[in-house]
Amino acid sequence: MKVVYTISQVREELAAARRDGKTIGLVPTIGALHEGHMALIRRARQECGFVGVSIFVNQAQFGPSEDLTRYPRALESDSEMCREADVDLIFAPNAQEMYPEGFNSWVDVGGVSEMLEGEFRPGHFRGVATICLKLFNIFQPDRAYFGLKDYQQLQVIKKMVRELDVPTQIVPVEIVRERDGLAMSSRNRYLGPEERKAALVLSKSLGKAKATIEAGERSASAIQSTVWNCIRSEPLASIDYAVVVDAETLLPIETVEHPAVVLLAVRIGATRLIDNTVLCPQST
Ligand code: AMP
Repeated sequence: MKVVYTISQVREELAAARRDGKTIGLVPTIGALHEGHMALIRRARQECGFVGVSIFVNQAQFGPSEDLTRYPRALESDSEMCREADVDLIFAPNAQEMYPEGFNSWVDVGGVSEMLEGEFRPGHFRGVATICLKLFNIFQPDRAYFGLKDYQQLQVIKKMVRELDVPTQIVPVEIVRERDGLAMSSRNRYLGPEERKAALVLSKSLGKAKATIEAGERSASAIQSTVWNCIRSEPLASIDYAVVVDAETLLPIETVEHPAVVLLAVRIGATRLIDNTVLCPQST
């Protein structure tokens, strides 16, 4: 496994892999890797002859009052985990490499990026879309792997790739959870012991949404109320949003007739967590 820091080094490595006829897989991350990231990496390893992982704490996707400076950085242990997973290349650029002096070109994906996370984190998806398009241009991967954990992000990337004709297949990967149901996230380490317990209310409320639809309920607002009541029963939790929306457009729905998704953003103390689950009315 090689660790490189510049775009030209990535291009060199990839030219060699392409000459050998290898399929290129890319896993974009902001580091502090955990089992959620590893699921993406393992999937890429199964499907691609060459696996690249990018590790870059992308300042453009953090708001001014967000946790950019304290976001965990762990290149050494990240590299170790990648080495064990048989990754071929880590790209760990610095800010100057990705956003040189005077950088001022941005990707704005309309529609699906505007609501929910888009409202609560203005500019977030512009930062995400821009860095992902740059990474797609740098690696020109055949496949790029994204977690369903960041459900709206996945929809934004899929739309960008479709509308800007990026020749990369976007591969979604299931959410990896701790044994007790908490979705894995680098931000979980901010939680104190009481908050860690309280954070279970997210997955618990999603379980209730699933049980409600399995019991035959099809009203989106009824399912949404079940979710809200569950989260509100936890004193340390405060809801940014908790909605049942169309699984593709993320627009509000009245009735769950097609696949829908429950999207949550909940603050547990000072830590903001997101989670989600897809509801398929046909299969229940
Ligand atoms: P991040 O480093 O937080 O930007 O995440 C990099 C990629 O890993 C994104 O595509 C995330 O959706 C994915 N990811 C993060 N946590 C999980 C998880 N618990 N399960 C599945 N994918 C995840």
